[in-house]
Amino acid sequence: MRITEKLMVKDQLISFEVFPPKTDSAFDSIEWSVRELAAFNPDFMSVTYGAGGGTSQYTTKIASLIKNRLDTTALAHLTCASTSKEKIDEILEALKENNIDNILAMRGDIPTDFVKPAGEYYKYASELVAHIKKYECFDIGGACYPECHPECDSLEKDIDNLKIKFDCGVDFFITQLFYDNGVFCEFLEKVRKKGVYAPIFAGIMPITNIKQIDRIISLSGTKIPPKVSDFLEKYKDNPTELEKAGLDFAINQINELLSNGVNGIHIYTMNKPHVAKTVLKGINK
Ligand SMILES: Cc1cc2nc3c(=O)[nH]c(=O)nc-3n(C[C@H](O)[C@H](O)[C@H](O)COP(=O)(O)OP(=O)(O)OC[C@H]3O[C@@H](n4cnc5c(N)ncnc54)[C@H](O)[C@@H]3O)c2cc1C
Repeated sequence: MRITEKLMVKDQLISFEVFPPKTDSAFDSIEWSVRELAAFNPDFMSVTYGAGGGTSQYTTKIASLIKNRLDTTALAHLTCASTSKEKIDEILEALKENNIDNILAMRGDIPTDFVKPAGEYYKYASELVAHIKKYECFDIGGACYPECHPECDSLEKDIDNLKIKFDCGVDFFITQLFYDNGVFCEFLEKVRKKGVYAPIFAGIMPITNIKQIDRIISLSGTKIPPKVSDFLEKYKDNPTELEKAGLDFAINQINELLSNGVNGIHIYTMNKPHVAKTVLKGINK
């Protein structure tokens, strides 16, 4: 089912993000997590795309498992920075053959050690979106950044670029993770003022360990509010309490967003069924 069709019957969606295996040998354990997560009946499940594009077949395979065997709406991520136009079309055909009808179209980042194969490439996600639109059989999602994309000089400029992406045919957006709902609300106001009317799903990543959060901050530049830094400091040597505090924080954050009328919550589950289970139990849905 297309995500926009889901939104016609339900005004707030709850979705999960999973990552695919990198090798055949890891497939079974990832399949187990995906099955456990699908059993919670999310409105859709998204599958990430490896930065270099070399494992794209696993994104399609996991998305197909979700859609065709677990009877859950699937959203396949696709990035164009390190995947040629020719390969993009091969992937789109494979997704079509597997009845996947939702794609999260992104530019992606080029890994530092990656040697880009010869060929033509789309420069920005908006160009990829415009291309996918021609297929007419996919709903198209785009990424957005309440705290500004790290490469952009200002949030205003980033939102101008977001408007270009929207005008190229994005049906819905999913945000980068954030921990301050005020930041999200201000972003939403600015984006709507610019004329970007597509539904925007809030990306929420429950904090479950210190290493994970350190990595995220260094990659995305996400601001950590005092409430979060307080429990990170307090429980830095107590992983059980830290996870508990992280999950509690995520539940409160989600409940506030839901009561403020957000279009949906996209939970970065990191393939951990117990994280999804705890969060779902705590939220007012
Ligand atoms: C929800 C979500 C899921 C993600 N999943 C994945 C994944 O599965 N795999 C993966 O590798 N990465 C993933 N990413 C990371 C994403 O690929 C990176 O953040 C990447 O750096 C930007 O991708 P984009 O599609 O937002 O790029 P774009 O929309 O192309 O924007 C990239 C930069 O270019 C600027 N820009 C855009 N258009 C123009 C223009 N016309 N002129 C000048 N500047 C412009 C923007 O302001 C921004 O700074 C995800 C991110 C999010 C938020």
